[in-house]
Amino acid sequence: MIKEARFWKEEGERVRCELCPHRCLIVDGGRGRCGVRENRGGKLYTLIYGSASSVAVDPIEKKPFYHFFPGSFALSFGTVGCNFSCKHCQNHSISMARPEDVYLRDLEVDEPARLAKQYGCKSISWTYNEPTIWHEFTVDASRIAKRENLYVTYVSNGFINEDPFREIGKYLDAINIDVKSFSEEFYRSISGGRLKPVLNTCILARELGIHLEVTYLIIPTKNDSMEEIKKFCDWVLEELGEDTPVHFTRFYPHYKMTDLPPTPMKTLLDAFELAKERGLRYVYLGNVHHGEYENTYCPNCGNLLIERFGFSSSIKGLEKGRCKECGERIRIVMD
Ligand code: SF4
Repeated sequence: MIKEARFWKEEGERVRCELCPHRCLIVDGGRGRCGVRENRGGKLYTLIYGSASSVAVDPIEKKPFYHFFPGSFALSFGTVGCNFSCKHCQNHSISMARPEDVYLRDLEVDEPARLAKQYGCKSISWTYNEPTIWHEFTVDASRIAKRENLYVTYVSNGFINEDPFREIGKYLDAINIDVKSFSEEFYRSISGGRLKPVLNTCILARELGIHLEVTYLIIPTKNDSMEEIKKFCDWVLEELGEDTPVHFTRFYPHYKMTDLPPTPMKTLLDAFELAKERGLRYVYLGNVHHGEYENTYCPNCGNLLIERFGFSSSIKGLEKGRCKECGERIRIVMD
């Protein structure tokens, strides 16, 4: 569905999109790098208002969120396009597609909230591809979801400008941001983006009081040096706080990156230990099934708080946000 976009201005014959830090300058008839915003006669339009490529009920753990209503379900929505072009994208069939390439289901603006209630979900989630580029619809539909007492979650690369993020941020309860590496060179050569704006979005999310979890996919030879991971951990500690849940996830060969092996378990375990040593209190390994590294333990006494296997979770030693053994307050959003 086509609708006039927000966050753009005229620049002579062209328009400048100001939704994300690429700030594309787009000629009449042209599109931005994300492939879903088009200049038509000097006005910028979104081509995907309400256009969904994927709608599914997911466990909240799949996003991943481990400290936000564990065990609940999120009605999840994705569209097409992306403002990055990661060579290892797991969802390239939608993220690299254009609106005319795939079947898209048209959603009414109140449909995400209505369907979430119908399926007994606690939240809606903007996920699968980058929600930034679906800004107009996600803002309008999130506003309605909040009115209907649903939670709103967002899984993002964090590459969004401050004003639009503040606009969607008013409706977000939780966000998981991928920090894809801690090097500008990686972002430039592998993802087609920049690191600094991503870090700024993490800090802003924290300032706005949105529950934040951070994911770092470890790719052999690309972002797996312990020196780089240490810098990342120290930045999280300093800027986001020791209670920020950090997910190190395992890479599997995919899309344009099939020449590399899956991340060795040793690398994941080394990153896990390093993050704990640096002082992060909630560190997890993803895309592996090792209970010990998926569970939540009390950072004070080591009591098992939440047991997980894959995307299922069971609350064990936690009551009203505190450890049942020692009473330590755990930073977790739950009833
Ligand atoms: S949202 Fe799309 S069109 Fe706008 S600046 Fe980013 S990549 Fe370019």
